[in-house]
Amino acid sequence: SIQLNYEKNIAYYDDQLGQQHIREVMMENDFENALRNEEFEVWFQPKYNVQTEKIAGAEALIRWRKQDGSMVSPGAFIPLFERDGLITRLDEYVFKKVCQIQKERLTQGKPFFPISINLSRASLHHEGLVENYTRIVKENNIPFDCVPIELTESAAMYSIQIKALVDMLVASGFKLHMDDFGTGFSSLTSLNVLPFDVIKLDKSLIDYIGNESGDQIIQHVIALAHGLNMKVVAEGVEKKEQAAFLQNMNCDQIQGYYYSSPKSYEVFDKMI
Ligand code: C2E
Ligand code: MG
Ligand code: MG
Ligand code: MG
Repeated sequence: SIQLNYEKNIAYYDDQLGQQHIREVMMENDFENALRNEEFEVWFQPKYNVQTEKIAGAEALIRWRKQDGSMVSPGAFIPLFERDGLITRLDEYVFKKVCQIQKERLTQGKPFFPISINLSRASLHHEGLVENYTRIVKENNIPFDCVPIELTESAAMYSIQIKALVDMLVASGFKLHMDDFGTGFSSLTSLNVLPFDVIKLDKSLIDYIGNESGDQIIQHVIALAHGLNMKVVAEGVEKKEQAAFLQNMNCDQIQGYYYSSPKSYEVFDKMI
């Protein structure tokens, strides 16, 4: 990008911003081919029951494996595809894959585990979302509760429009999980008004465990969620002490490197 310095009457080129912009344009250009060539993979991170320490479900997470074998991390492309709207195609891709997998597991008589998917703000507002996602579940002949939908606190920031969309999803049969709880501004309003079944405590909250006020906040958020009949999943748990604390606080599930990082479906299937 060009930056102007009016005082000195010179313009100079910021190479770093330029490079970043070029990378982004290249990713956008590559998108269609990547989708067609199945460069996007769906990985699965198990969620563990806090008391039994057994797998209770999973979250589906997208990965981009380029044809040269290199992996692009979600942090590098999700924010971009959220800005340009391509995320709606990826979200649907992941959702369809998970529905197919659940159908396959069901017909093979494999044990049932809910596998949640992420829905970005753009996807939530995409025209026909509720009808489309409902039709996909029905076509696969699977129960709605095997694909819970994770919405971030900010994507679900309360508005009449969001309330209408979320109510329609729930009326169709979907379960909703509030993702990244503790990072936004609207948590309490959203919890009060929107029909979430689960809240997922963000890693940034979990990182406060061991700090006196952090412990208090987590204890009370869990009690609040339980009082509202919601379950609590703690994300980003990496340490034994964090897991032990969450166990004492009656948290329901743990998702984090302490138990397992995201895995390919083959590996995940063997784990369960
Ligand atoms: P998220 O939905 O909050 O997913 C949890 C993220 O935390 C995942 O990162 C996961 O790998 C990471 N994580 C889990 N446990 C630990 C831990 O113990 N330590 C650390 N440091 N990290 C942990 P990932 O897979 O890189 O995804 C990042 C974000 O990208 C996700 O956050 C989600 O917001 C977004 N994302 C991923 N897949 C999709 C998708 O299919 N659609 C949409 N819309 N967003 C997606
Ligand atoms: Mg999530
Ligand atoms: Mg999260
Ligand atoms: Mg996140």
